[in-house]
This record gives sequence, structure tokens and C-alpha cells, in this order.
Amino acid sequence: MPETPLELLKRVFGYDSFRGEQAAIIDHLVAGRDALVLMPTGGGKSLCYQLPALLREGTGIVISPLIALMQDQVDALRQLGVRAARLDSSLEAREALDTERALAAGALDLVYVSPERFLTERFMDRIDALPIALFAIDEAHCVSQWGHDFRPEYRQLDVLHQRWPRVPRIALTATADAPTRAEIAERLALDEARWFVSSFDRPNIRYRVEQKANGKKQLLDFLAMRAGQSGIVYCLSRRKVEDTAEFLVGHGVSALPYHAGMATAARAENQRRFIREEGIVMCATIAFGMGIDKPDVRFVAHVDLPKSIEGYYQETGRAGRDGDPAEAWMCWGMGDVATLSQMIEAGEADESRKRLERHKLNVLLGYAETIRCRRQTLLASFGETYPDPCGNCDNCLEPPPTWDGTQAARKALSCVWRCGQRFGAGHLIDVLRGTRTEKVLQHGHDTLSTFGIGAELEAIAWRGVFRQLVTAGLLDIDHTRFGALRLTEAARPLLRGEGHLTLRRDAPAARRRGRSERG
Ligand code: ADP
Ligand code: ZN
Repeated sequence: MPETPLELLKRVFGYDSFRGEQAAIIDHLVAGRDALVLMPTGGGKSLCYQLPALLREGTGIVISPLIALMQDQVDALRQLGVRAARLDSSLEAREALDTERALAAGALDLVYVSPERFLTERFMDRIDALPIALFAIDEAHCVSQWGHDFRPEYRQLDVLHQRWPRVPRIALTATADAPTRAEIAERLALDEARWFVSSFDRPNIRYRVEQKANGKKQLLDFLAMRAGQSGIVYCLSRRKVEDTAEFLVGHGVSALPYHAGMATAARAENQRRFIREEGIVMCATIAFGMGIDKPDVRFVAHVDLPKSIEGYYQETGRAGRDGDPAEAWMCWGMGDVATLSQMIEAGEADESRKRLERHKLNVLLGYAETIRCRRQTLLASFGETYPDPCGNCDNCLEPPPTWDGTQAARKALSCVWRCGQRFGAGHLIDVLRGTRTEKVLQHGHDTLSTFGIGAELEAIAWRGVFRQLVTAGLLDIDHTRFGALRLTEAARPLLRGEGHLTLRRDAPAARRRGRSERG
């Protein structure tokens, strides 16, 4: 009697049961069919091709873009007694030759190979003559031009279908957004494949978002309660990484920097320490993370805004892979939005790509500013419905104070209009509050009908109003005019006197108002 998948799971891997859709995926592949697997990081994707490769005749070929990842997987499999090997550019010629011989002799259950290596005629010729159990395409989102992991070689992997139409294929990714999913299916000629879509919820991660007032102090406060825990602090730039790491070390935190501009050896050493030692806080750009399997990362902090909600999800997903409680904390301010928008505008992408990037930033801002459950908002952006508020995010735990901002929004929008859509929030607030600054006088803005109509709110509260008008898409930032605020089409109804706007009451302003309301 041949071994069942479950028996094999127990015997080789030592696990008692399958997780989520693993069993269904494995059966599907063993039956010789194609699969597209969308599962969050830590969900257990590897077993989905490792087991069928062992159950089917021949060798399983795994195409993987990351050498470090291949190495880890092959080492782990060998320890379990699985005959696994890898072929990539880091191997000595001799080692590579040995592996190729073993492959030809049918002495390997699984071979991990980089896409470059796979696509050589030499390699493809070799495996033409061999029984192949399956092809697994790991990190399949690398086929997408829009993602930051784009690997041009992945585009040529439709050769699998053309040259070996009878060999089942499985493409796997933890990337959740719908356009990328569709692109994977199309580019890899997986139109017949069955889709296995897992929930992307990470229930043990608690999401928290804060407004930036004094970012460094807020980070220290956050870390103070987490002494001795391992975590990642994501920063936007290399310089910010260096600054933050230095600042934290100066305050007694075991922080290390990591970014692509560092010498390879220093970077590798910091990564090694983060994985081996306890309680290291890694200050890093997004260059850090992909393929790093450290189960007990207790928190991921964003001290700058990520570029998209997919990026945010991937980065925060590195917390709590062991299933224990973990925290995703983000601290952001309007300055971050300006920086990111500027990066988009100054970038070399064509207009359609820029439009997409602006859209992605807006989706992220919607998440940052939402007064709904964060988890519901996050999963909804991936097309997933999460039925009830989660009870494990800041908005669920401490519902944010809100207020009816309809009147304030109207005043702010008309002030933008009266000032000719040529000024930033600082000046507009001076006009609204009736402050006679030199700039106000110079432009004659003290004679506008909107001058002084907003004295009832403090400047900081007005900041919150403008910020939320931007994140709600009623205003946008004009980068050709040093960040001037402009009305969008969506602002019209409110200006006409229709509609309502509920705004989040920012914490500092809320406290102050709370006192005066009571007193
Ligand atoms: P992914 O590639 O989706 O990020 P992995 O395949 O690396 O996830 O699996 C994540 C962790 O979960 C690994 O430590 C793996 O051994 C473990 N795991 C996977 N499937 C099971 C299972 N059925 N039972 C117990 N542990 C599992
Ligand atoms: Zn919630």
C-alpha cells in the first residue's frame, strides 16, 4: 500500500495534521493538476509542494528567487532525511556538477533552482529526459512588474507549460492584492489552475496606528514596554535607518542597522545577530525581511509610512509567526505623505504607473486614518470580508473619539478655494484662525470672507482637519507648487452644502477640548 499524504506528513515531518488548505492542495497536485496558492507568510506553503514531490514519481523542481531561502529549505529537508539539493550561482562548480549528476541518476526528491539557472538550455535539456514530479514556482509574485520584487526571468517561466505540458505546476505567493494574482495566472499560463486562497488574517497581530507628534519619543515609549523583545523598526531611507539605530543605541536599546547601502559583510552580521540573539531591534529599510524566517519577532514598527498596503501587510506579517501575540505599530504624520508623494512625482515611472502608486498611497492613508476596525479595513483592501470588528486593534480596543467635522470641512475647503488653491495647510490655518502673519497681509488674505471664520478650533485641530481631507480624497497635494492644497472633484458635494463628514478627533487636540468642554 502506498503511503498516504498524512502518513508521510507524520513520518517525515513529524506533524500530526494538515493546516488550512494544505491537504486539498496536496491531493490536487498528486492528481497531476495545476494550482495557484495564495497563503500568508508562515501559512505553510512549503509542504504544499514538498509532499507531492515525495508522493509522485520523479524529482520535484522548485524555482526560487532567493539563495538564502533555498539554503535554509534544503538544510531543513536534509535533516529530515529528504534527498534535496540546490543549484544556484553561489555554488562551487564541483558542487553544482555533483548535484546535476545526482539529479540525472534519479537520486534526488527535490531540487531548488534559481530561475536564471533553470532557464539555461543546458539545464532544461537535462531535465527533458527525466521523470519530473512537479514544478513549484515559489514567490510567484516576482513575475509582476508592479511589485518591488520583480524578476524579469520569471516572465519566461511560461516555458514550463509549453515544454512540459503534462507536469503539474504549483505557483505560490504571500502577495495578497488582486491585480498581482491575476498577473501571476496570466504570465505563467496557469489559466487552468485551481486557486487556493487562504484567509490573510493574522489574528495574533494587534494593529495600532498613532499620529506623529514627536516620532522619536513615541518610538522610545513604544519600545520601553518591550525591552528584551525582538522586533523590526522599518524606516523609509538609509539615512533614517542609521539615525534611528544610533538614537536607540544612545538610549540603551540593542538596535542594529540594516539597509542595502551597507557593506555585505556588516549587513550579513547584523542579520545573523538578529536571528540568533534575543532582544535585538533591527532598524531597517524594506531591503530587510524577505526570506527571513524568525518566528519570535514580537513587533514590527513603522516610523515612516510604507508605500502601499500590500507592503505594510508583508512587513507587519513578519511579526508573530510563532502564533504568539505580536504587535504592528505605525506612527505617521502629514510630512510622511508629502515625502512619499514627492518620491512618486520625482520618480522615473510613466504616468500610468505613477497613477497606480498614488492610488496605492491613498489606500494606505485610508487605512491609517480609518475609524473602523483596522483588521476589517486591511483585509477588505485585499477583497476579503471579515465579518465583525476584531477586538484586537486600537480602534476596537479604544474606539477613537470622533466629531461631526462637516462645518469645519466646509470652512477649510472654501478657504482653499478663496486662497486660489496655491497654499499649504500652515497658511490656510492662519487665514482661518484670523492670524495676521506677514504672508497673510502680503497676499491680502485678511480681506477674504474666510479670514477668521475658524477661530473656534486650535491650529492643531485644523491640522487634523486638513490631513483628513487629504486622506479622504477631498483635497490633494500639488507638488508643482511646493505642496499647495487643491480641491478635488470629491469636494464638490460638501462645498455645495450636501453630505456629512465624520472626522477622527486627534488625541492631543481631543484632550484639550475635553477639558474646556467639561470646565
Ligand atoms: P510559508 O512558506 O507559507 O511562509 P512555511 O512553509 O515556511 O510557510 O511554514 C511556516 C511554518 O509552519 C514552518 O515552521 C513549518 O514547519 C510550519 N508548518 C507548516 N505546515 C505545518 C503543519 N501542517 N503542522 C505544523 N506545522 C506546520
Ligand atoms: Zn479591530
